[in-house]
Amino acid sequence: MLTTFSEIEFDKLVDDVSACRKCARMEGCVRVLSWANGSIEAPLMFIGEAPGRLGADRTAIPFHGDKSGDNFEKLLDTAGISRKDIFVTNAVLCNPKDEKGNNSPPAKREIENCVDNLQRQIELIKPALVMTLGGVALEATRIIEHHDLTLRDSVRTSNKWNSRLLLPLYHPGARAMIHRSFHNQVSDYYFVGETLKRLGNKKRRASTSIRDDNSWNVVAKVLKIHGSISLFRLHKILYLIDNLAAARLGGPITRFFYIRQKDGPYCVDLGGRWYSRFPDSLEATKSAMPILTWRTRGLFDEEEHQVSDEALALIREVANQTEMLNEGQLKTKVYLTEPMKRYLKMEKQGFSSLNMRLL
Ligand code: SF4
Repeated sequence: MLTTFSEIEFDKLVDDVSACRKCARMEGCVRVLSWANGSIEAPLMFIGEAPGRLGADRTAIPFHGDKSGDNFEKLLDTAGISRKDIFVTNAVLCNPKDEKGNNSPPAKREIENCVDNLQRQIELIKPALVMTLGGVALEATRIIEHHDLTLRDSVRTSNKWNSRLLLPLYHPGARAMIHRSFHNQVSDYYFVGETLKRLGNKKRRASTSIRDDNSWNVVAKVLKIHGSISLFRLHKILYLIDNLAAARLGGPITRFFYIRQKDGPYCVDLGGRWYSRFPDSLEATKSAMPILTWRTRGLFDEEEHQVSDEALALIREVANQTEMLNEGQLKTKVYLTEPMKRYLKMEKQGFSSLNMRLL
């Protein structure tokens, strides 16, 4: 349901972008701008180069689903920055490909074609900090308002630009890691978090910027209680827990980012390399939809991953409600939740709600 002027404006921008045909070679590509890009209230905006063929061009979620996306999500995670608190976009919103169908850098003309879209996103979201990921994104910001920054000289510095701060960072893709190691990039993302915290005291509350680890304790508790569970079920069960928490407690108990995808709610935070958080306890079968098994480590395991009594009660309640449901029935259950019903109603009115943020 549309409630604010910004939401209406954002939907208009998404519509304009999906109708955009300025770049001939982008014909047939996904226009990667939707509610899956992140929160329009976010204090942090990350700007990449362009959607990747195996990443956002496939998943419609920027920096998600390919190696660059894995690296980006790992960098965010290590620095404790949640997807829920950021908006991620690209200098060009479609995936430029060469004649062989491989990723190719956007042409200068394509960057210029898309710069209005970038400017509209910045004006609408009004992030306190803008992080450019790589040289192309830095060039695009220069078109919006001139600056003399170069990636090599200005990496990890905060610079006044366009009524906010601009922090040039390297691209998280494998090629850029040759110039700036993953280790160095981790420090860059910590710097982003710290800069936001400092700014939060003066300008904008930083309370939403840094994730506590409770979200992952909730995941661990769910896995422990279920023992063995498919990744499909885990996405849906976490959504049900947070949806129930939103109704009962006034807000989700995790800081995860859920969007509506074809088979229902999808937790973006469970799309990357999150398994590595539980290296000693979690086993996953190798398949498109893995089965996850929690290996308990006795007393030590019990002491880890504590959640509040309220959270535990919700986790148990959803476990009881869903344990006898097969995947089809579970899918029906999530479709009967209020956010999903709302979006299905919008779809009947001709509005595409795929990739809309659910919680
Ligand atoms: S890259 Fe930008 S300007 Fe070019 S077609 Fe896509 S949305 Fe339009």
